[in-house]
Amino acid sequence: MVKAKTGDDVYGEDPTVNELEQYCASMTGKEAGLFVTSGTQGNLLALLSHCQRGDEYIAGQEAHTYQLEAGGGAVLGGIQPQPILFNDRGELELPLIEQVIKPDNIHFARTRLLCLENTQSGKVLSLDYLAEFSDFADSRKLAKHLDGARVFNAAIYQSVAVTQIAQHFDTVSICLSKGLGAPVGSVLVGSAETLASARRWRKMLGGGMRQAGVLAAAGIYALKHHLDRLAEDHHHASLLAAALSLITGLGREGTAALTAATNMVFLDLPADRFDQLRAWLAEHDIIVSTQRLVMHRDISTEDVNRVIAVCQQFPGSGDRA
Ligand SMILES: *Cc1c(COP(=O)(O)O)cnc(C)c1O
Repeated sequence: MVKAKTGDDVYGEDPTVNELEQYCASMTGKEAGLFVTSGTQGNLLALLSHCQRGDEYIAGQEAHTYQLEAGGGAVLGGIQPQPILFNDRGELELPLIEQVIKPDNIHFARTRLLCLENTQSGKVLSLDYLAEFSDFADSRKLAKHLDGARVFNAAIYQSVAVTQIAQHFDTVSICLSKGLGAPVGSVLVGSAETLASARRWRKMLGGGMRQAGVLAAAGIYALKHHLDRLAEDHHHASLLAAALSLITGLGREGTAALTAATNMVFLDLPADRFDQLRAWLAEHDIIVSTQRLVMHRDISTEDVNRVIAVCQQFPGSGDRA
């Protein structure tokens, strides 16, 4: 970051931003990339670039794009969301999509875009499903966007190049700041034409940054050094889930106490019991916000072991073994 060459990226003259964008485009097999302030902005730019006012996109009920981005597509683009439930593999089932695609009729919004998320709550979408999804969308002439905030977790988990996943989408938004550990930013990749539109929208939204090369440099570093180590996060999640599942009182009676998926562990405690656990952990300087525990590069094996040890001492719990 200190050594980054910078220029004015609004004029396309920041060499480090350009390098980051080209690097992301080539590693995902797309024509172009666009450095954006956040994953939310990347997803919003995709909606705005694929859809016009009065169009509709289909996404999961719990999808970040639909649920956690303040309704940006509707507010700023006049784009109607059509949410449907994810199945337990994090997929949108094709027959369910088929049911909500609107016929060409003046009563309806025009269905234009399908959005997936990978990983979805830590779940990795199978390549077979992605191929079927993509063929389906093509046959219905719908555009395809992937919220790939954690797409590298999926690629590392499946031991495939990220192009194998990205090939099934027109645009992919990838996050530099979560598992990869860069301080700021996401990159939207796709065709040069779509990205030209996204670039205009980004400017309108106030996302045109000037000497952003310092931030882009961190992104390049993360992409070159922090991808393979995502496997450690997956390992940490399995370790944590295995150890916690041996502690009685950390799960509902008779159900799987908790599950792990790539870098996430999900507790399944009644709300009041979770509040007690959260307070207990806080007393030991461990901060958790929800029952979803997410591993990343700043959480070491030692940290995981300490969380396990503190949970083993949680009043009212016991060792099942
Ligand atoms: C965090 C996240 C985003 C949004 O990223 P921000 O950079 O926080 O705006 C989008 N999608 C998913 C799946 C995420 O986890």
